[in-house]
Amino acid sequence: MNRNMLNFTVGPVMMDDTLRLENSEQIPYFRTPEFSAIMKENESYLCQFLDAPKDSRMIFMTGSGTASMEAAVMNVFTAQDKVLVVNGGSFGHRFVELCTIHGIPFTEIHLNYGEPLTQKHLDAFNNQGYTGLIMQHHETSTGVLYDLSMVGAFCKKNNIFLLVDAISSFMADPLSMQQDAIGAVIMGSQKAMALPPGLSFICATPKAIQRITSHKVSSLYFNLADYLTNGERGQTPFTPAVGTLLLLHTQLKKIAEQGGVATIIKHTQEIAQYFRDGIKDLPLKNYSVSPSNAVTALTSTTGKSAYDIFTEMKDKYQIYICPNGGELKDLIFRVGHIGYITKQALDTLLAALHDMHKHGAL
Ligand SMILES: *Cc1c(COP(=O)(O)O)cnc(C)c1O
Repeated sequence: MNRNMLNFTVGPVMMDDTLRLENSEQIPYFRTPEFSAIMKENESYLCQFLDAPKDSRMIFMTGSGTASMEAAVMNVFTAQDKVLVVNGGSFGHRFVELCTIHGIPFTEIHLNYGEPLTQKHLDAFNNQGYTGLIMQHHETSTGVLYDLSMVGAFCKKNNIFLLVDAISSFMADPLSMQQDAIGAVIMGSQKAMALPPGLSFICATPKAIQRITSHKVSSLYFNLADYLTNGERGQTPFTPAVGTLLLLHTQLKKIAEQGGVATIIKHTQEIAQYFRDGIKDLPLKNYSVSPSNAVTALTSTTGKSAYDIFTEMKDKYQIYICPNGGELKDLIFRVGHIGYITKQALDTLLAALHDMHKHGAL
């Protein structure tokens, strides 16, 4: 496998040279005050970048993003809740599956692929005793970025606990837990944080902590109360992905030094804009009407299979773009704007797309 291919997917994404070098070092023993201190700093950086309310805590899970989605659903909600789930694509659908498996009563707000969530969708559920709302910030499968301030206002008015999967939007699109009254946020290491896969994170506000510590979950590994207790001393109940947590620390520290998360969001937005401007003359249409900075979801206006475009880009040009699965396989391919992307790499991608167009492959 060629591990030096350009990678414009939505994760894992390209890492910068400093992180790649650090990634080759030995993994230290971790039940030490030194590692605990690093973890406490990781916690404080992440809470700061999320604009989390005072006394919020981070939960560090070793497991991909879905592990934290499942853990959050199991620990925050119970069979006594009544939850709304926004389902606008494959990640929204995952929450539907999780609520079903864990017996959380829910109503689905089903959106067509690419359709934004509107006030009208929410207004149908005012004053009906809902206690929770679960959604993505960015539905990565279709590239739709939802309006969290609209949802936050609805949840505040109805006293609803808002759980947001920001796995693909954190560090790519602005997010403020305090402004939008978000109860808990989920993140993952391999998206805009540009780290190896295997870690995910839950930011729990005091409201979330209250729910987590008062519920009893039937799970050992996914018992978040245990993570909160261990986290007080900068530790986790079980062996975490120690190496990746150290990379996380390097990354967060660097971001803080460069002016915080706003700087990296601005950079991502510029990359997205440069790409979108660069394909204006190609027979490709942006699939999402409210796109995230993290990704551009594209469909061929000449009806070419999106999956064939992905395959040709991989095999002929040694460039990864992101295919879609299921029903969207032939309709949409996605180009990610997250991770370590240089202007030179972007120009290479744009040249490859124009070359494909020249011989009728788009
Ligand atoms: C990538 C992603 C996930 C998690 O996927 P994993 O493969 O479990 O890491 C969840 N939600 C969204 C919105 C994502 O983009």
